[in-house]
Amino acid sequence: MTELTRRAAFGALAATAALPALKIAPAAAAAPAAGRQVPGIYRYKIGEFEVTAINDGVGSRPVDESFVKNASLDDVKAALETAFLPTDKLAIPYTQLIVNTGHRVVLIDTGTGGQLSPTAGHLVENMEAAGLDNKAVDAVVISHFHGDHIMGLMTKDGKKAFPNAEVMVPEAEWAYWMDEGEASRAPEGRKGAFAAARKIFQPIAKDIAQYGAEKEIVPGITSIAAYGHTPGHMAFRVASGADQVLVLSDTSNHPALFVRNPGWHVTFDMDAATAEESRRTLFDMAAADRLRVQGYHFPFPATGHIAKAGDKYDFVPAFWNPAI
Ligand SMILES: [Zn+2]
Repeated sequence: MTELTRRAAFGALAATAALPALKIAPAAAAAPAAGRQVPGIYRYKIGEFEVTAINDGVGSRPVDESFVKNASLDDVKAALETAFLPTDKLAIPYTQLIVNTGHRVVLIDTGTGGQLSPTAGHLVENMEAAGLDNKAVDAVVISHFHGDHIMGLMTKDGKKAFPNAEVMVPEAEWAYWMDEGEASRAPEGRKGAFAAARKIFQPIAKDIAQYGAEKEIVPGITSIAAYGHTPGHMAFRVASGADQVLVLSDTSNHPALFVRNPGWHVTFDMDAATAEESRRTLFDMAAADRLRVQGYHFPFPATGHIAKAGDKYDFVPAFWNPAI
């Protein structure tokens, strides 16, 4: 029955394709196509906290031998195909969080500031679409110093993008990226990241607060050591009452590859073995406690759950909900 139906459907399509193109005049009432996506904003509650996920845009990364360091290109392409994704290049989204605790308005990571990818840099305009004012942000928490997380802290003309915010950064990130010795010893491919960190943080260095692991940095938001991606990379637990979301930051890049295959090492992980250990620990925690997770490079709205599947995991995206 299914086969018959499919054959009939494809047969009909083929017949249509064989016909000369029909000239159909557009209906006079038709509106022009918008030609772009609607703003990437999504809201949910964690206890008393209101959380808004804001998409800054996406970057595009070619899928080549260097992308996953310890898997064959065939296996990587097969995993993408299983997820119905293109196999030649991967769109990697950037999603920030605004947590309104009722007392503080906290932004976790800042996106690209429009300085890394022509298809990103929309944090502030998407905040406006969500009814959020950049001047109302009173704390910016940085997970790590890669450009796609810090460049949005400053505008292109060098002004503070969140002028009233206290800026909090991991102390181990500051120690590594702002150290002259580390900068001079860095491999060529990492020099750009050192330069970006200096460009962003040096002008505001005296206003920056550093935080360690397992610290409640804002009431309700606790840092969790998730080292490996970078030396001081942090995840966060955002908790209000009995409710919580585990903010994974870059513990995993795109879930179709690295949640499904937690042993795969993305090229961006500086210490891949430690990063894998952090990933497995956080995924096990999320799966066992059935925690909501938020992943910086997950497809928007970049939130859902992690389910254990043998020695792998599945990312189960949250369903859109009109009620928050
Ligand atoms: Zn990142």
